[in-house]
Amino acid sequence: FDQREGYIWFDGQLVPWADAKLHVLSHGLHYASCVFEGERAYGGQIFKSTEHSERFRRSAELLDFAIPYSVEELDAAKALTVAKNGFRNCYVRPVAWRGSEMMAVAAQNSTIHVAIAVWDWPSMFDVEQKMKGIRLDIAEYRRPDPKTAPSHSKAAGLYMICTISKHKAEKKGYADALMLDWQGRVAECTGANVFFAKGGALHTPIADCFLDGITRRTVIDLAKRRGIEVIERRIMPEELASFDECFICGTGAEVTPVSEIGPHRFTPAAVSRAMLEDYTAEVQPKAKAA
Ligand code: PMP
Repeated sequence: FDQREGYIWFDGQLVPWADAKLHVLSHGLHYASCVFEGERAYGGQIFKSTEHSERFRRSAELLDFAIPYSVEELDAAKALTVAKNGFRNCYVRPVAWRGSEMMAVAAQNSTIHVAIAVWDWPSMFDVEQKMKGIRLDIAEYRRPDPKTAPSHSKAAGLYMICTISKHKAEKKGYADALMLDWQGRVAECTGANVFFAKGGALHTPIADCFLDGITRRTVIDLAKRRGIEVIERRIMPEELASFDECFICGTGAEVTPVSEIGPHRFTPAAVSRAMLEDYTAEVQPKAKAA
């Protein structure tokens, strides 16, 4: 990934892709003082860019550091990076970390670095293909108690258990893994939130110990606009058998129906299709209001 063509925005400058390097004694690498974002541009416009920039800054604050750029500066830098690389549709990855001035747990005086990279990650907009659904394993690791981790930060450190769980799932032939929370309730996937449908209504876990995804909130709004009831509640894994449909959602996954979770089977149908179609329409660039 480090030898591509193109430009990466690095501490305020666009630099050639291969030159965007950091020191091995970066605190972010040793102690996970690192936060990031995941966004998508559609038709040259980043979907909900400002919400992502706000979350990026909040993620850092939860890790006790401040990103040295305002939301407006971040939005402009992301737009510039997308344009400079000549993309209309792409994935956008801002990342911020503590630098190499202090090599111990305490690192108050380290420099905060920020980079923004963009790359091609095609959306799968083929509805019929998506409606076949993906298969999910159930992860061994659970989302931690919010008393033991900054659950609402998109912090690199919180992804360690996601990578392990995703690798295990893929090794067994699954696309991803469903993670339970510290109390054994259904939480989310390794990089996406989860929704279930029953009797025409949507059910989704309360986002109090995992990321309340921007896509999750978009789906809730879209469902309400359609008059679909959305119930945020505690969901136990024993209940999975009672649901008719399931889908996951996130910036990367967009809306992706699920056909299997461990021993449980689902048939993607009307509710998943409606959310998939509505989300696909929603992310398209809007004509700027006059
Ligand atoms: N949970 C996790 C663990 C994620 O990595 C993501 C992707 N950022 C999400 C949920 C969904 O978040 P969003 O919709 O804001 O992309």
